Amino acid sequence: MISEPVKSGEPFKIAIVGGGTAGWMTANLMAARWGARNARITVIEAPDIGIVGVGEGSTPQLKAFFKTIGAEEADWMPKCNATYKNGISFHGWSDRPGYDHYFHPFPSPIDLHTTPAFYFNSHYRRQGFDLDANPDRFFLSAYLAEQRLAPKPAHQFPFDMAYGYHFDAYLVGAFLRDHAKSTGVSHIEAKVNHVSVTDDGEIASLLLEGGETITADFFVDSTGFRSLLMQETLGVKFLSFNENLRNDSAVVLPTPATAGYTNSQTKATALKNGWVWDIPLINRTGNGYVYSSHYCSPDDAETELRAHLDMLDDVSPARHLKMKVGQVEKHWRGNCLAVGLSQGFIEPLEATALHLVQATVEKFMSAFEKGGFANTNEEHFNRDISARFEGVRDYIVCHYRAARRSDTDYWQDNTANTNLSDSLRRILDCWFSRGDLKKEIAEQDISKYYSLTSWICLLGGYGNYPEAEKLKTPTPELTLYNLNINDDFIRRCALNFSDHKSFLSTL
Ligand SMILES: Cc1cc2nc3c(=O)[nH]c(=O)nc-3n(C[C@H](O)[C@H](O)[C@H](O)COP(=O)(O)OP(=O)(O)OC[C@H]3O[C@@H](n4cnc5c(N)ncnc54)[C@H](O)[C@@H]3O)c2cc1C
Repeated sequence: MISEPVKSGEPFKIAIVGGGTAGWMTANLMAARWGARNARITVIEAPDIGIVGVGEGSTPQLKAFFKTIGAEEADWMPKCNATYKNGISFHGWSDRPGYDHYFHPFPSPIDLHTTPAFYFNSHYRRQGFDLDANPDRFFLSAYLAEQRLAPKPAHQFPFDMAYGYHFDAYLVGAFLRDHAKSTGVSHIEAKVNHVSVTDDGEIASLLLEGGETITADFFVDSTGFRSLLMQETLGVKFLSFNENLRNDSAVVLPTPATAGYTNSQTKATALKNGWVWDIPLINRTGNGYVYSSHYCSPDDAETELRAHLDMLDDVSPARHLKMKVGQVEKHWRGNCLAVGLSQGFIEPLEATALHLVQATVEKFMSAFEKGGFANTNEEHFNRDISARFEGVRDYIVCHYRAARRSDTDYWQDNTANTNLSDSLRRILDCWFSRGDLKKEIAEQDISKYYSLTSWICLLGGYGNYPEAEKLKTPTPELTLYNLNINDDFIRRCALNFSDHKSFLSTL
């Protein structure tokens, strides 16, 4: 129920401009929570402009999104060529022996059985003892990913796994559009040619091509990087993250699906001037090289991507994209909320964009229900969402800072980056001075963005430990955890999971 803000008896009128994933996710979330009796929602999109059409990996929060809108996996996944994602493995980011790849798991309840050993070994490895602290050995999901198993346990297994998805962005958009329309959301296909503003800086109406004028009580800007309402019309400032995140471009080239198996993880492989994603879908593999145009040209990036994919002789066209990395100064201003690329973007290394869309809309609805258009409400919400963007940004910046590669100017500059937030500086100081990382993360209250496990995986996964030749033999009390027992536990748990490709065919 929208309480106080609704004019008595009248449904609240919401106009969402933009029919990309962000616009349709917003429409579905608002329709699910407020219902047609409380909110009359219209999505306006310009088919000629189209959607960005990338964004094919998610975090586990997307599972909650589909649950909220009442869509079962068996309903939406086959329609979107979707697959399961146990997590992300990072390849080629470190030249330290034994650390050429590591896996970043999504936190799952079963990790409680294996993380004590991980934290312990990692802590004493940092103190210079010769203990195995490579993350891959400590997480069931790393094993599931390596064995290409689906994160869906047999009925008798007492733990659920956290997982994300991979999907076709166009097909998800179409599914969400049809789903929203089936719950009463209206859809107009037309370009917004002009946005009118009142004297006190609120959005008054939208003028569509063809002459129709749309009025509403509230407007959502989901117009992608253009940010037609929030940035272009209301002039809300864009705060760039370019100073600490250098990637500003991507080149995308799909390949056929792998024959005989389907991976259940995203792979992020470092190349000379950025990294390439490998996202397995049912019908194809999505590949995209995210790079910095300050270090290489689009042609060079495309050639490097083709070489990486063994497609130098292939003539299928690649797609080139520019990325605007940063966030708006205000995500909600007056009667306008920016959602999706129009509110900001952090490069896709941890596939967090749709997660931020979901968090923005859900937090907005809660804030709005509590206090409507009250300024204090808006300020509190804006601080919260900005902090969330910064929390995610710091974790991504840390990937580049903590990587152990120095073969190109790009990697030398990234690993020497001193443009760090205070928060990240403190994390790095704590790690390298062998301090108590758990305490540091708790003091900063940042585990709501990335957990202790995630930070240790990242910093340890690239081998940021004392050099092997300097390691001390562990004393008997430091060999507390027998990792063979750990390996055995994980292998036996994995017997409850089935082959990913076969599982998908049952949906
Ligand atoms: C290279 C790259 C990789 C990415 N990878 C991931 C990932 O793995 N995981 C993830 O979560 N996210 C990822 N993202 C982000 C993700 O793609 C977006 O967050 C998501 O697709 C939402 O985009 P959007 O809806 O905000 O914008 P868009 O898809 O650009 O949609 C904009 C909409 O606005 C409409 N529009 C624009 N102007 C007007 C107008 N004047 N009148 C009417 N309509 C208008 C367009 O028609 C369109 O419908 C990636 C992004 C990039 C660039």
